[in-house]
Amino acid sequence: MNSLLLENVSFSYQQRKSQQTVHVLNGLSFSIQPGEFVSIIGPSGSGKSTLFRLITGLEQPAKGRILFKGKEIRNRLGHVGYMPQQDLLMPWRTVMENAILPLQLQGMKKEKAEEQVRGLLEEFGLKGYEDRYPHNLSGGMRQRVSFLRAVSSGNDLLVLDEPFSALDAITRLSMQEWLLDQWRKQRKTILFITHDVEEALFLSDRILMFSQMPVSSLREITVPLPRPRKFEDLSDSQLQRMKAELISVLRKMVTLT
Ligand code: ADP
Ligand code: MG
Repeated sequence: MNSLLLENVSFSYQQRKSQQTVHVLNGLSFSIQPGEFVSIIGPSGSGKSTLFRLITGLEQPAKGRILFKGKEIRNRLGHVGYMPQQDLLMPWRTVMENAILPLQLQGMKKEKAEEQVRGLLEEFGLKGYEDRYPHNLSGGMRQRVSFLRAVSSGNDLLVLDEPFSALDAITRLSMQEWLLDQWRKQRKTILFITHDVEEALFLSDRILMFSQMPVSSLREITVPLPRPRKFEDLSDSQLQRMKAELISVLRKMVTLT
């Protein structure tokens, strides 16, 4: 059974000032299988984050259905681990207090939630940092707290919105390797937004490409790299050709003004 299924989903925003309607998605369908790592790439402003807000239930589709494991659920936020584009850690909560938030929202007692999260801290390179506040952490650490929060929510499906875009190239590389390691260990299904073609190729089983709005279908690319992967695999000539082609398709979508 699909982990996630979108059936003919349409969505538009009403611009408040101009009263104009922005059609973001128009009859979009796709599915994600359990255990898959799928990336979504597309030009900025093409509706990628909006898609995630629909999947998490922060927005509801105007038409169509969104199903988790074959079931239509209206309150989807409790059923998916979500890491938004901005890390959204609460500055007045410590690392631990931030990490246990989804469990507390599910009604779990503080002590039990802390116990559950404590086991994961070391895995996420955050042991000893439980009592720190977000402003006392590096960018990479804040990302890991945000990711820990998504993982410890207990959901199989994780949707991560450009989690590494603010990191420098070297930190990003170690985070990518670390993410693949966690994906394998925790046996999660991951849907990952990025605007970085190389990142998408390195991480994913499949890449779904957004076009300009309104998006009604996605171009699908299967990544022909075996696992486990090493960063050096990206210098493979077939991969380099795919990268060049994807970048050229994306560039054609972007109109410079
Ligand atoms: P992406 O994540 O691909 O960069 P978004 O999903 O953030 O794109 O945005 C897609 C389009 O929807 C943009 O034109 C954006 O201006 C518009 N949009 C996003 N959020 C809102 C909102 N809350 N109200 C009105 N328009 C919005
Ligand atoms: Mg976005």
